[in-house]
Amino acid sequence: MKKKMFGIVGALALTLTGCVQVHVGVGTDHGFVSLAEAVPDAILEIRYYSTYNFVGERVDGYERPCALITKEAASALKAASDDCVKRGYRLKIYDAYRPQRAVAHFMRWAKDTKDTRMKYAFYPNLDKSVLFAQGYIAERSGHSRGSTVDLTLLVDMGGTFDWFGRESHPDYKDITKEQFANRMLLREIMLAHGFKPIAEEWWHFTLANEQYPDTYFDFPVR
Ligand SMILES: [Zn+2]
Repeated sequence: MKKKMFGIVGALALTLTGCVQVHVGVGTDHGFVSLAEAVPDAILEIRYYSTYNFVGERVDGYERPCALITKEAASALKAASDDCVKRGYRLKIYDAYRPQRAVAHFMRWAKDTKDTRMKYAFYPNLDKSVLFAQGYIAERSGHSRGSTVDLTLLVDMGGTFDWFGRESHPDYKDITKEQFANRMLLREIMLAHGFKPIAEEWWHFTLANEQYPDTYFDFPVR
């Protein structure tokens, strides 16, 4: 399935470079779907389309306030959302597929250490110059592979999406018991439906069996 979609050229490029490749094109060519259609109960707050994000402006590649995701991740997320609703919760989505050009925008922003207009909201305790060195901003993001999602439950999680600092680590305990339990509930639900977490961000999950583990896409979100 995967090779068929890449075609011979894609397969060759992988073999020759032994590393990742960046695809351009249209999401539907690769089986991406609209998250809002696939998971109608989820609320969308696409921060990178807005100016309320760590950059402080709309991020390159976000041409509409919507979210795209591989259909495999969408169906796992639908099951997670159904599980949440059954328990009396709702999911809110901040980001899913992220074009490579958006990640490039983050890199450009990270290098401009004078632009600290959003420091107050997302990294008040860190000097901007350490964000790249400490791994908060990187040249590639798993989001560009299409099966990763940033999300929250609509309850008090004791912190905000894209907060740069150890307070965002899922094992961080210096929050209230209830806030910690809320983070753990989100994690439990996502893991039960096939996603895997990371150690640095309580809101970030990737489908464990992702369809494009080595492909970083660059078509815009529109
Ligand atoms: Zn993320």
